[in-house]
Amino acid sequence: MSHPALRVGRPVWLHSGRSHPRYPELRGHHAVELVVVGGGLSGALIALGMAEAGVRVALVDGARTARGSTAASTALLLQEPDMDLGDLAGRYGLPTASRIWEISRGAAHDLVATLRRHRIACGLTERPSIYYTTNLECVGALKQELARRGESGLPGRWLTPGALRRRTGMTGAGAIETSGNAQFDPYRACVGLLEAAARAGTMIYEQSPVSQVRPTKSGVRIHTPRGSIDATKVVIATGYATRHFRPLAGRFDMRHTYVLATSPLDARQRREVGLGPVMLWDTERPYHYVRWTPDHRLLLGGSDRPIKPGARRTAMFAAATRELREYFEAMFPALAEVRIDYAWEGLFAMTPDSLPYIGPHRRYPNHLFALGYGGNGMTFASLSARILLEQWQGVASADHELFAFNR
Ligand SMILES: Cc1cc2nc3c(=O)[nH]c(=O)nc-3n(C[C@H](O)[C@H](O)[C@H](O)COP(=O)(O)OP(=O)(O)OC[C@H]3O[C@@H](n4cnc5c(N)ncnc54)[C@H](O)[C@@H]3O)c2cc1C
Repeated sequence: MSHPALRVGRPVWLHSGRSHPRYPELRGHHAVELVVVGGGLSGALIALGMAEAGVRVALVDGARTARGSTAASTALLLQEPDMDLGDLAGRYGLPTASRIWEISRGAAHDLVATLRRHRIACGLTERPSIYYTTNLECVGALKQELARRGESGLPGRWLTPGALRRRTGMTGAGAIETSGNAQFDPYRACVGLLEAAARAGTMIYEQSPVSQVRPTKSGVRIHTPRGSIDATKVVIATGYATRHFRPLAGRFDMRHTYVLATSPLDARQRREVGLGPVMLWDTERPYHYVRWTPDHRLLLGGSDRPIKPGARRTAMFAAATRELREYFEAMFPALAEVRIDYAWEGLFAMTPDSLPYIGPHRRYPNHLFALGYGGNGMTFASLSARILLEQWQGVASADHELFAFNR
């Protein structure tokens, strides 16, 4: 179950001085009810939810927990899936697409509630998101998207170019503003959730790559270099299908995605940039996005590129981060004066409909998967925790089918 590096470069969240509890390596043989493979946000939320429901859980990470894609994330917690309601309705019909959007909204709210309930200090702040276009030709389609959302009872309001300029300092052709989204430090959130899971009884192991999952009479046995765990079921929360699950790999389109973090902007620089307390993302695909951190840095993200066999990751990194900087300097000319303190890259696992695969797969008995979150990993990690707990408890729900492998 080895994989390419989940991220390259040092995310702002991991700046020096930050540390978190280390968990032991798995040694010897253990038995639990449920074993979770992967200690990112997804595994942390799943383990926490299960442990709080009284399930005996173990979580195993091949490296250090919270330091995979989760540490690379910019943690815009969006209620909106990456695929517009209109495009999703084109695939599945409007009632199903609306339900998916509602579920996604619920999952984002659940995550905020969980972080608050456990008092996890992670800079959690509610923020409106602004979904904008700079292209006049896209304005009609964006207005139509807002109208469709309105018909489905989903929130949102139109921003004219003037309103957009006042809210963001940028010149655009129009935008949809949605309230009730949030942002946080994903690393601290994940560390806090793992601590909460440990308090609820989860056994957590690090530096213990799972090399095999074998069937047993009563479920599965996972093997690591120095240990093994028997469980009724295993949850695979490794972000995407690792080599161990090669037959599933074709379902994921892997992309590099890039982020820049500026130095903290002083009051004058912030006035010149003109961006208010909102999160911004655009209608281009791949999209660009920007948000503030609590210490007044701007996080600038996007410039995704497909993974190409043999391509030099460092050369791609240089080109993509340059492109990202140029894009945002064109939008916010005052950024030309601002230093970039951090640049990093991570992997997105995209699915054809931008929705995750959550639940069982007929080829793998006693496995539950939580994979393929694309750019919505915060929201979908929360959704995985809900759905997998319901599946474990035997709760039947038509919602599960919307995210199943055979949808
Ligand atoms: C640059 C970037 C920016 C992003 N921005 C956003 C954003 O703004 N909003 C949003 O919602 N989402 C965003 N995402 C997506 C989101 O960060 C991810 O989808 C989410 O963090 C995935 O969490 P995870 O727990 O599934 O995976 P990860 O955090 O990658 O955790 C997987 C874990 O599995 C472990 N593992 C892998 N193989 C094994 C094995 N064989 N044995 C044991 N352990 C193993 C790894 O060591 C790792 O710790 C972003 C992603 C990137 C890369």
